[in-house]
Amino acid sequence: MSIKGFQGTSLLDFPGRVASLVFWGGCNLTCPFCHNPALVLDPNACPDLDADALLADLAERTPFIDGIVVSGGEPTLDPTLSDWLTRVKELGLAVKLDTNGLRPDVLSALLERGLVDVLAIDLKTSPDRYAELHTGPVDRDALIASIRQAMAAPVTVEFRTTCVPGVVNAPAIHALGQLIRGAPRWALQQYHPAPALDPAWREIAPYSAEKIADLATIARQYVQEVVVRGVV
Ligand code: SF4
Repeated sequence: MSIKGFQGTSLLDFPGRVASLVFWGGCNLTCPFCHNPALVLDPNACPDLDADALLADLAERTPFIDGIVVSGGEPTLDPTLSDWLTRVKELGLAVKLDTNGLRPDVLSALLERGLVDVLAIDLKTSPDRYAELHTGPVDRDALIASIRQAMAAPVTVEFRTTCVPGVVNAPAIHALGQLIRGAPRWALQQYHPAPALDPAWREIAPYSAEKIADLATIARQYVQEVVVRGVV
């Protein structure tokens, strides 16, 4: 178990509902633009929360919250995640999973066990560029397998792309769009450079609102709904 913290948030796709956001440490990518570098580069610097104590805390909160958001880092790396979420579901709480989609076997097991109600998969760039997001090898086929599972899953699904200049451009949006054609929702987010994992990426100017609108126009060719978030 490698839970590093939690806080209140809104539960995506449960309008008006409230959730607790639970962070896992560690990741199988090292995206240079990552906004949670401490969780990725040095997860052991933060003490693990006790899983049983956190469940007891969540149980006390059930009159006030509707679910939890499982985020990170990359929570699917935790071999105890499935059992822990089983206990969360026994509390009657909904679960939203945020994942980079590189552990399709884990995702498959969670979906089969009915442990995910809302699934958000990050699409960083076109699959053939994922090697740029890590110091080690990246299995692009794993991402594609997770996308296929998500497209067939009987849960609420959202794909998300942070529009990082140099990583996300029109060809990348086309490549991703072809993979998720017909998906219910694709959220495009503006890049905010300040907390980036790689200091050099903190100097990259985000795309303008107009540029993101152009990317959204391309994305709308492929999916049912495109939402744009975080544009300033
Ligand atoms: S952006 Fe997400 S997938 Fe990339 S390193 Fe950070 S937590 Fe991992």
